[in-house]
Amino acid sequence: MPGQAYTKLAELQRRTAVLASVDELVHWDQETYMPPGGAKLRSEQCALLSGLVHERATSKEVGELIEQCAGEGIPSGSIEAANVREWKRDYDRARKLPREHVEELSRTRSIAQHEWQKARAASDFSKFEPHLDKMIDLMRKSAKYYGWPAGGEPYDALLEGYEPGATAAQIEKTFAPLRTRLSRLIQEISASGVRPDDAVHTRDVPRRQQEAFVRFAASAIGFRFEDGRLDVSAHPFCSGLGPGDCRMTTRFRDNNVMDALSSTMHESGHGIYEQNLPAEAFGTPCGSAVSLGIHESQSRGWENLVGRSRAFWEWCVPHAKELMPELMADQSVDSVYAAQNIVEPSYIRVEADEATYNLHIMLRFELERAMIRGDLSARDVPREWNKRFKDYLGIEVDKDANGCLQDVHWAFGLMGYFPTYTLGNLYACQFFEAAREQLGDLDAMFRKGEFAPLRQWLTENIHRHGRRYAAGELCKRITGKELSAEPLMRHLEGKLKPIYGLA
Ligand code: ZN
Repeated sequence: MPGQAYTKLAELQRRTAVLASVDELVHWDQETYMPPGGAKLRSEQCALLSGLVHERATSKEVGELIEQCAGEGIPSGSIEAANVREWKRDYDRARKLPREHVEELSRTRSIAQHEWQKARAASDFSKFEPHLDKMIDLMRKSAKYYGWPAGGEPYDALLEGYEPGATAAQIEKTFAPLRTRLSRLIQEISASGVRPDDAVHTRDVPRRQQEAFVRFAASAIGFRFEDGRLDVSAHPFCSGLGPGDCRMTTRFRDNNVMDALSSTMHESGHGIYEQNLPAEAFGTPCGSAVSLGIHESQSRGWENLVGRSRAFWEWCVPHAKELMPELMADQSVDSVYAAQNIVEPSYIRVEADEATYNLHIMLRFELERAMIRGDLSARDVPREWNKRFKDYLGIEVDKDANGCLQDVHWAFGLMGYFPTYTLGNLYACQFFEAAREQLGDLDAMFRKGEFAPLRQWLTENIHRHGRRYAAGELCKRITGKELSAEPLMRHLEGKLKPIYGLA
């Protein structure tokens, strides 16, 4: 039986989570339905709400209750013990940055973001350089305030905010073999002379048909529309407000329904995770997602490992023909499957295919790690970027807007965030191999449109635990192994070599 302090703390934190969900809701509205005129009031609403949430989460009372929990004999290994451990972690971390630093960060962020936009539009890095310089300085200070475990490095302190427990050294160890092998695979593909027809990516499809198609797919894989919504925003995202209410968005381009499908499958993966967290644990760590890497493993699993598989299209093509007859008239399983797996080096990360994507991430990880170490100054970023880009992807960057100015992350002070995208790809492949071992022939199920066994397996092994186990520990519990690059390489080579006649 949890003691008095634990019960009181849980109630307090639950109310904070309710308040935080209101903050999330107004953010969702800002990206979807808010009229442009609402911007000024909205920024006040957001500032007030997040201020209140921060105040509650870092109050002295919370700190005292966490300490009192230690005397309540909570059995180690229990869910309650995991909650107290995570509450303490969040509390300590949230109190480490001095108020003046947080304020300076927030000022710098809004200026840097604004200047980044202008610099990107002009494709002129020199306009952004002083702001990046300032941001690197602030990020190095943040790392110092947070601190890092002995034997580590400052970058670890930032990484901890997105992927608790991960370290730069570990990530480097996992990424390094991937870099060479991926580069080689991509070169072989480029040299193969095979170029799948991409007609399904270039033809106009009426918006009504596109919408019916992506909703059909989201619901087939298990996103519950009675507990969620799908709307439209410039940058697709998913926001799990709490039990029974998960908001996701997608985007529609007139001539590329597959773009809307990928975005929707991706956000559905995030949504399915949020919808299957234990509802009764809402407001506690064990009722929330464990890390960005694990979250991304869910989205990329459904988007890529399911949505770009041949078995998926064997099931989906007849439905697609019914919902989008004009687009699909001359298409077959083979043609759509090949088009969905076109690999081609390109400048922009968010448009990159499944194979080249990870090289975009590695480059960013290496550069930001060097910035935080003090080995790379803002001024040298374009040169280093372009050099590595040529090495890894084989193409010359033509302008800064297609190179180091393309992402908002650094202007926003999001350093330590990029690696979680590739960690997500790696976790997804390793989890799917375990699922195949335990569930049998997943492809045979996909061919029949049976996605529930996989979804239930993910809920059983990942979703229902919330933050009970750290990401690395969760991976070992599920797969028996540490995270490795092998499953991803097996997946990509196994799929792409036959398509490109390399097998
Ligand atoms: Zn995502």
